Amino acid sequence: MNNDTDPDCAICSRPAAVNCECEANALDRAINQAEQKMMASVFNDIRSWVRAHAQDYILSFFSTLSTRRRHQHAQQIQAINAHAYTHYRLHPHPNELIAADAELKRGIDEDWKTAVQLYPEVLEYYYGLVDLSLPEDSEVGVRDPPLSALAGDGLGKSRRRRSTGRVGTTTVEMGGGRRRRPEVAFAAMPGYGYVFTDV
Ligand SMILES: [Zn+2]
Repeated sequence: MNNDTDPDCAICSRPAAVNCECEANALDRAINQAEQKMMASVFNDIRSWVRAHAQDYILSFFSTLSTRRRHQHAQQIQAINAHAYTHYRLHPHPNELIAADAELKRGIDEDWKTAVQLYPEVLEYYYGLVDLSLPEDSEVGVRDPPLSALAGDGLGKSRRRRSTGRVGTTTVEMGGGRRRRPEVAFAAMPGYGYVFTDV
């Protein structure tokens, strides 16, 4: 494979035949850096969205359980009062009511625990609704990206977006609302310029 025209390593300048790992490592670092820059806000948005929906779900699930329990408790108190009156023409013994209230409190604590223990499953459910889609390879922005660095007009300049030549956008969908990632123009990244300029 190797011949005289294979370029030397862009990082350490040793011949290609040496097969050093400089370029592969630098590419990994560049990918991490680009991912951090471009995707961190998307991941944060997804996290906030999942968190909010999971919390809403858990709260409403708890509300269903505890409402049912309060209803049962009210019926129980009614039965205690009715029983005391029917048999003794008296109010029930206070301890009976205290015990019923304590049982309600225990039950509500249990309901809350049950609801909170569903978080892992509920979080996975909402994460599962997130749809990350990549553009088709046939899209113009993918086929013909604006390699401003290659054209020699973007090197060292700002990374402001350009109105012409866009990278295909990645679309993120979270249970309905669809939003597009901002468009970006290629620009050499400090420290990794070789990726685009070593031509
Ligand atoms: Zn090297």
